[in-house]
Amino acid sequence: MLRCVEFVEQVTEMEEGASRPLARLWFQLHRLACRYCRRYLRQMRAVREVMQAPASPE
Ligand SMILES: [Zn+2]
Repeated sequence: MLRCVEFVEQVTEMEEGASRPLARLWFQLHRLACRYCRRYLRQMRAVREVMQAPASPE
């Protein structure tokens, strides 16, 4: 089983779809089993969306 620190290290790779199938499987299993990493992943995605969104006019 993946440890949390390994999960965090792989998040960017996974989001870019650059990972191997087996690594992806372990990643998904950890995500399902670990609520801390689920929350981390959600925050990562939220931050990424904000970063990618065009600046809205004030
Ligand atoms: Zn974890």
